[in-house]
Amino acid sequence: MKVYLYMNERLYQYGFPNHPLNPTRYRLFKKYLEESKIDKNLEIVSEYPCNEEILKYFHAEEYIKYVKRKSEEGVGLLDYGDTPAYKGVYEVSLESACATLDAAKKALKQKTYTMNPSGGWHHSRRDRAAGFCVFNDIGVAIEYLFSHGLAGRVYYIDIDAHHGDGVYYSFEDDPRVYIFDIHESGVYLYPGTGFEWEDGRGAARGSKRNRALDPGDGDDILLKYIDEAVEWGFEIEPDLIIMQGGMDGLAGDPLTHLRYSVDGYLSAVERVLRLSRDLGVGLVYLGGGGYQPEVQAKTWIRVLETMLKLSLT
Ligand SMILES: [Zn+2]
Repeated sequence: MKVYLYMNERLYQYGFPNHPLNPTRYRLFKKYLEESKIDKNLEIVSEYPCNEEILKYFHAEEYIKYVKRKSEEGVGLLDYGDTPAYKGVYEVSLESACATLDAAKKALKQKTYTMNPSGGWHHSRRDRAAGFCVFNDIGVAIEYLFSHGLAGRVYYIDIDAHHGDGVYYSFEDDPRVYIFDIHESGVYLYPGTGFEWEDGRGAARGSKRNRALDPGDGDDILLKYIDEAVEWGFEIEPDLIIMQGGMDGLAGDPLTHLRYSVDGYLSAVERVLRLSRDLGVGLVYLGGGGYQPEVQAKTWIRVLETMLKLSLT
């Protein structure tokens, strides 16, 4: 079974000037990948279809036009607070959505693992940017797969330290999207949402689970919830698993207060990868956040190695 890694210069430009979310981690990751022995089962995907029309599956047209205009102007903000516009931000964000969609399609069709480190922009809403997320590549991929009848049920697992509010609220009333989101409590961290009582709405009640951690929580809590997520996965029997693997919960991250170790994090990822294999469905892993570039780049290499190891068994 081949494992697919999405990588090219355009995709690895995602980031913002003077912010911890910048392309350094992608540069380092590329360097470490070149230095490591690349397994013959790893296929680098540098070209894939990319059409701006895909954004409309999830985003409001007015918002897409707005981002395009701000990207041409190259000044100001894309939201009410922190996401700055710069020249080309439209193209960079579109590229990420295209890669995630292609990665999702490939994972689904070939029942394999795909990885897009430059994806997982889980704060973006249908009609606005938020938290340095411009286009919600996860939402675009999910809506596209549903619209084309390619998937009937998707399981989204998010271990980024921030709550994936853009995915949660956009699909809060959609029973086809199962969500398990483990994050630092909104009491202490942006975006201030994702409490345990938020479990879906209307016909979708019970299809979402939020698990909020306290500052200082570490591997034992992460793995306890991951085991719950895995167990639930066997009940859900999804057509595809999408994992937002943000590493900002690793100890030492400058933006959050969780204390996962690299080994604990990798163990969580491996358990979800095994779930996908045991269910016989594909999994797309997305990079999300993480603000210790050296650690993140090296840990991505280990995520890839885990994927390759499991793809052989
Ligand atoms: Zn985050």
